[in-house]
Amino acid sequence: MADVNEVIIIGSGPAGLTAAIYAARAGLEPLVIEGYGAGGQLMITTDVENYPGFPDGIEGPEMMQLFRAQAERFGTRFITADVTRIDLSRRPFRVWVGDAEHEGNAIIVSTGASAKWLGIEGEQRLMGRGVSACATCDGFFFKDKPVVVVGGGDTAMEEALFLTRMCESVTIVHRRHEFRASAIMAARALDHPRITVRWGSVVEDVEGDQVVTGVRVKDADTGTEDVIPAAAMFVAIGHQPSTSLFTDILDMDSEGYVLTQPGSTVTSIDGVFACGDVQDTTYRQAVTAAGTGCMAAIDAERWLEANPAPAADHAGAGASAD
Ligand code: NDP
Repeated sequence: MADVNEVIIIGSGPAGLTAAIYAARAGLEPLVIEGYGAGGQLMITTDVENYPGFPDGIEGPEMMQLFRAQAERFGTRFITADVTRIDLSRRPFRVWVGDAEHEGNAIIVSTGASAKWLGIEGEQRLMGRGVSACATCDGFFFKDKPVVVVGGGDTAMEEALFLTRMCESVTIVHRRHEFRASAIMAARALDHPRITVRWGSVVEDVEGDQVVTGVRVKDADTGTEDVIPAAAMFVAIGHQPSTSLFTDILDMDSEGYVLTQPGSTVTSIDGVFACGDVQDTTYRQAVTAAGTGCMAAIDAERWLEANPAPAADHAGAGASAD
């Protein structure tokens, strides 16, 4: 027999946990299915220095632990596993974790996104110690140092331009001989005196023992290899929203990001809301994810008030979960 919850939140980064805090304080006793990768992208971030309220910075995992504790304090329940199947065709909505079925009168989708990685050896080993996928988050740690940005799209241009504000030099490594980026962004990067481009070059590995010291690249035409000295390598080859569960169920853009109505978290299905990076192709910051998490909880609360579940559906509300 499935338990019936007012709100089920799928995903537990800053968006999902902020939604949980707000939903719990509104008395909705949310159930968070936090996933095996609980905490989201901040779990692989070292120092977070741009989240307001932490003037001395905080480690990403510690911050997510605080978010979780705050959600728990107001009665959020957690399941530490991945959702394996969903049925959003009727209310109550149904969510499965393996064989266990959970029902929700409203659903908040906050499954996030993840950076695409190159898949080379040093990348995982030096993650958070010079390897990063977020210049806004980590650029500051490489003040006055040479850095490398990998990629040729708008994100790579944006990251490279941002890094010129604090880094000594920025080398963009791109595998082809022309950028994929929009003309205006590409021109800005190409015209910048502190940006150089390694065209037609593939990253072979990132070097360094404890921290990044250089990026080994191979010229795709000649096969020659050399090492670009660098204190950091920013990988900017795109992001992947975690939306495979919702394919053909929720409306998405061509990249698989969940579409929400502008200025809200409302998705293409009544009673299903989306927040955080799963619907954000622009900002992708912890603080903006938290902001949309708050919006999703408020949207869900108002929607539930206007669309109460039939009495029978409330029977199991608040049933405990592991
Ligand atoms: P894109 O998919 O546009 O670009 C990814 C880049 O990474 C491409 O140049 C691609 O090379 C390269 N790449 C992909 N995989 C690899 C790999 N394994 N090894 C080496 N290089 C690789 O992603 P973005 O994140 O740049 O942009 C996503 C979307 O967001 C776009 O629509 C973009 O316009 C938009 N955006 C807009 C911004 C703005 O307007 N301010 C800012 C940031 C993003 P190749 O070109 O050879 O395929």
